[in-house]
Amino acid sequence: MEEQTERPNNHRPIPKLFYDDLTGAKMSHCISCEQDLLHNDIPYFIEKAIKPQLGYEVYATIFEYAMCVNCMQQHKSKISASSMANINKYFQEQIDLSRRQYLVANELFDDLNLWLEYCVATDKHIKSIGECQIYAQCLGDQLVMGECPYMISGEALDAVVGLLSAETIDGFNKLKDELVGPSEFQDLLKGGPRVLL
Ligand SMILES: [Zn+2]
Repeated sequence: MEEQTERPNNHRPIPKLFYDDLTGAKMSHCISCEQDLLHNDIPYFIEKAIKPQLGYEVYATIFEYAMCVNCMQQHKSKISASSMANINKYFQEQIDLSRRQYLVANELFDDLNLWLEYCVATDKHIKSIGECQIYAQCLGDQLVMGECPYMISGEALDAVVGLLSAETIDGFNKLKDELVGPSEFQDLLKGGPRVLL
């Protein structure tokens, strides 16, 4: 009981949507350093690329992974300064933060749909999107709600990729091959870099 009352208000048990679709269980290890994420105190991110057919009810998973903040920072530090500046500019211009601020201010942490229904950049609804990525920030078996979770459409990701330097794209591709393997995810490779955005 005590633990329950101490849980921060914006924490919720990780929803099934962010489970490992391959095993049906919670993601348990960092894809990069392989440390245990469920029994440690290190914050981590879950990223999934999916092709929705009936919104989040029916979808195909293109890839999915969890990564601890340390590895995330390490990989992000490899993005060139110019690419990073372009990415930040794009998000500043495209992302309307007012919806998230409203959700946080009103503590609407129980309805995941409110957080994931619309692309953060294009505002398109999940049911009108062919491909997208969803992101969650977690701690142990809890979802930490605030900046995440969010959904970004393939269309918006393509726009972001267009802003990256050749060097950064090359770096992403290498990282992707290293982490997910080149042969398993042909779809993903065709679509260009899809990691760490
Ligand atoms: Zn790690």
